[in-house]
Amino acid sequence: MNSGSFLSYDERYIWHPYTQMQLVPRAIGVERGEGACLHLSDGRKVLDGISSWWVTLHGHAHPKIAKAIAEQAAKLEQVIFANFTHEPASLLAKRLVEITPDGLDKVFFSDNGSTAVEAAIKMAIQYWTLMGEERTEILALEHAYHGDTFGAMSISARGYFTDPFENYLFRVNRLPFPETNTTSEEQFLVAFRSEAKKKKAAAFIYEPLLLGSGGMLIWRAEILEEALRIAKENDILCIADEVLTGFGRTGTMFASEQAETKPDLMTLSKGITGGFLPMGITMASQKIFDAFLSDDRKKTFFHGHSYTGNPISCAAALASLRVFDEEPVFERIKTIVEAHKEFAPKLAAKHNLQHRQIGTVSVLEPKESTGYLNKKSLEWAAKALDLGLLIRPLGDTLYLLPPYATTRQDLEMAYEVMDRILRVE
Ligand code: PLP
Repeated sequence: MNSGSFLSYDERYIWHPYTQMQLVPRAIGVERGEGACLHLSDGRKVLDGISSWWVTLHGHAHPKIAKAIAEQAAKLEQVIFANFTHEPASLLAKRLVEITPDGLDKVFFSDNGSTAVEAAIKMAIQYWTLMGEERTEILALEHAYHGDTFGAMSISARGYFTDPFENYLFRVNRLPFPETNTTSEEQFLVAFRSEAKKKKAAAFIYEPLLLGSGGMLIWRAEILEEALRIAKENDILCIADEVLTGFGRTGTMFASEQAETKPDLMTLSKGITGGFLPMGITMASQKIFDAFLSDDRKKTFFHGHSYTGNPISCAAALASLRVFDEEPVFERIKTIVEAHKEFAPKLAAKHNLQHRQIGTVSVLEPKESTGYLNKKSLEWAAKALDLGLLIRPLGDTLYLLPPYATTRQDLEMAYEVMDRILRVE
C-alpha cells in the first residue's frame, strides 16, 4: 500500500491521542525506525528527540529485541496469567527484583503506565484495609502526572487534562512541589511533616527527581531522601512512579537509587520493553505482599488485565535488559549527558532561556513560562520536524529526551534546530 492511501484511511478513521483533531487533522506517516531516527513516509529522515513519547530506550528496531520478539511469538504468544505462568515472565520478575532498589521483592504485571499506577494505589489502599487501620489519605505532588485512568488522574495535578472529570475524581492531599534551591523545598517538607503526623496517610506517590508531563520539573535527591525518611518514620507507604525515570533516563538505572531510603512500591512501564511493546509493572515489598495472604478469598488482590504478563512483552523486556549487559549502554548515556551539558547552556544564554538537566533529559524554557496550551508547542514541533527533529514541547517548554543510540553529533544537530526555531520568533 502506498503511503497516500494509508494516510487517507488514517484521516478518515483514526482518533489520535492528545490531539485536537480539528487543529491537527493529518497525522505524519512513519515508514520505519532505525537507531535514533525515524524514516517518514515522504522519504524524510528525522531524529527522534523524545524517544517517541519517552518509550524508545536503546533505539528504534534494535535487532536483538526484534529477534527475541519474533522467537517468542512463534513459541507462546499469550496465556492466561491467573494461576498459569511461563519462562519469560519468571525470568523477567527475577531480573527486576535483582536490579531494582532493595526491598522490592514481588512483581505484578499489567500493560501500561497508568495501570501500573492504578495497581500500586489499590495495593496501598487495600493493604491498610487488611491491616485494619484507618489510613485513607493519599499524598501527591503539585504538578504530578501519573496517567489518564481515573485513579491516576485523581492523584495527578488538576488542570486541562482532568477538568471535565473533576467531579468524578477522588480527593488527595496535595504537597507543594519542591523546586530546587527555593523556599518551596522547605514548604514541601513542612507540609509533609504535618500530614505525616496526622497518621492518616496511606501512601505518598511521587515521580522521583523528575516530574515529566507536569513540565519536566527537577527536584533534588536530598529532598526526596528527607521525605522518604519522614514517610518511613510515620508508616506511610512510598510509591515511586518510575514509569518515565526508569532504565537510565536520570543517569542511574532508577531515579530511586539516588536516595538512600527505598520505596515500598514502584511502577515501571515505557522503556521497560526497550520501547517495543506495552507493559506495566508494579513492584511491591514482601510486607505488602504478605498482608494479602489469607485463607479468606475476599482478601485477594482483585486486579488484572487480559494481557497481564504477556510472554512477547516479557521477552522484549528481557532482551532490553540483556542489551544493558552486552552493550555499553551507560557509556551512551554519559555521551548524551555530556552533550547536553556542552550545547544546552549556550543555547539558553543566546535566547535568554532557563536550562535544567537531569541525566539524559535536557529542558529549556522562557524565564516566564506560559503553560501547556501555549500554541508555540505546535508551531515549534512543526518547524523542528521540517528541519529534521521530532520534538513535542510541553507548551513553551522545550526538552530533549533521546534514545540512547543518539550520538553527540545528533545532539549538536538537535540544538542547532532548536536554535533556528527560536531565532524565527
Ligand atoms: N506515570 C508517569 C510518571 C508518566 O510519565 C506516565 C506517562 O507519561 C504515566 C504514569 C502513564 O503511563 P501510560 O501513558 O503508559 O499510561
